Amino acid sequence: MDTDRSARLFERAREVIPGGVSSPARAFASVGGTPRFIARGEGATMIDEDGNEYLDLVNSWGPLLFGHARQEVIDAASSALQRGSSFGTPTEGEVELAAAIIDAVPSVEKVRLTNSGTEAGMSAVRLARGATGRDKLLKFVGHYHGHSDALLVAAGSGVATLGIPGSPGVTEGAAQDTILVPWNDADAVAAAVAEHGDELAAILVEPVAANMNLVPPDPGFLAALRDHADACGAVLVFDEVITGFRLARGGAQEFHGVVPDITVMGKVVGAGFPLAAFGGPAELMDQLAPEGPVYQAGTLSGNPVAVAAGRAQLELLTPAVYEQLEGAATALADGFQAAFDAAGITATVTRHGSLAGVLFTSDAPRRFEDVAAADHAMYARFFHAMLDRGVYLAPSGYEVIFPSTALDEPMLERIVAAAQEAAQRLAATG
Ligand SMILES: *Cc1c(COP(=O)(O)O)cnc(C)c1O
Repeated sequence: MDTDRSARLFERAREVIPGGVSSPARAFASVGGTPRFIARGEGATMIDEDGNEYLDLVNSWGPLLFGHARQEVIDAASSALQRGSSFGTPTEGEVELAAAIIDAVPSVEKVRLTNSGTEAGMSAVRLARGATGRDKLLKFVGHYHGHSDALLVAAGSGVATLGIPGSPGVTEGAAQDTILVPWNDADAVAAAVAEHGDELAAILVEPVAANMNLVPPDPGFLAALRDHADACGAVLVFDEVITGFRLARGGAQEFHGVVPDITVMGKVVGAGFPLAAFGGPAELMDQLAPEGPVYQAGTLSGNPVAVAAGRAQLELLTPAVYEQLEGAATALADGFQAAFDAAGITATVTRHGSLAGVLFTSDAPRRFEDVAAADHAMYARFFHAMLDRGVYLAPSGYEVIFPSTALDEPMLERIVAAAQEAAQRLAATG
């Protein structure tokens, strides 16, 4: 596989951009090698600057539920763009998108649009603090809520990939109100709530942990969080930036039947454009300025081009889409697990709804430490063996597989066949 152009571009990128990337996980730091510079995408396929084609299992880290350059999304965004890129005024489109979000996610009565998941999560925390008059946050180890100061503590995703325990630049003051609890540890949650309950503004959670590989909640765990939040008067925040519109049209809260106070959304809601959102009961959301005192804003928030793309994608969300996504995730998870088993490689492939995660461990992970203890060097080898065979996995063992509906049966079979070859190769070169 010729990667000369990507290699040259990466060299040039590193001269002008820190690490050569606009977001750390893209740099292949934990898997090694040259990040592929992508020239274009078509459905399930990405084509890099050297002309190599990859079946894409990342889909821009989740937003592209239907794969690349989906025609309805392009048409909606192009026609919005023809009318102007941004006005800094209210527009009809954002009202329609808000209504579409509310229709899909019944716990959301009102919603505010932002430009990124980070902003949405940060704003949800400010709203929870403003509404409760309390400071502390309960957060789970390995959960990722974007890169705002208070939420970067013991975060998953790129923070975990790079092994950064916190980050320089995050003050002790910003971190001291974040209480950390291990995921799926009901006793630790109960103890933290017993100690800090009356100071807790919010319990923040990825309802399905998907930035520390894939770790579903233990049965009853989310319901217990709901009960704790009710008992101590904290706001329960579901960060559904990955799970929203992906596990189900109504997200993880529909999938698991547990309803949060505030829902944070991103990725799928923007169809690949910089758009995210947070929403909840009207009474709570009306605490936001200009209705209430909690300030939150954005020059480009509700951008008409992003809004048009998001609306177009949400309109495509039918039950059949989720059947197809789950079918793809199942085919990949079962096929990968069988490939590892046949090659005698210790691996656990977790599937939860339409998400899947590949982890080189003998047991299904329940906590961040289980994910951290997996064989990440083996993941790097698997990643490259798949890349060489034209399959693009996330360049980190802390991330998940995001299938799209653009993957048809023959493509899924090709990916599984590539996994079989890759697993045999890993075993042979062990
Ligand atoms: C990606 C992600 C975020 C951050 O969203 P950005 O748009 O990257 O700022 C927050 N929470 C979760 C669960 C995410 O996966």
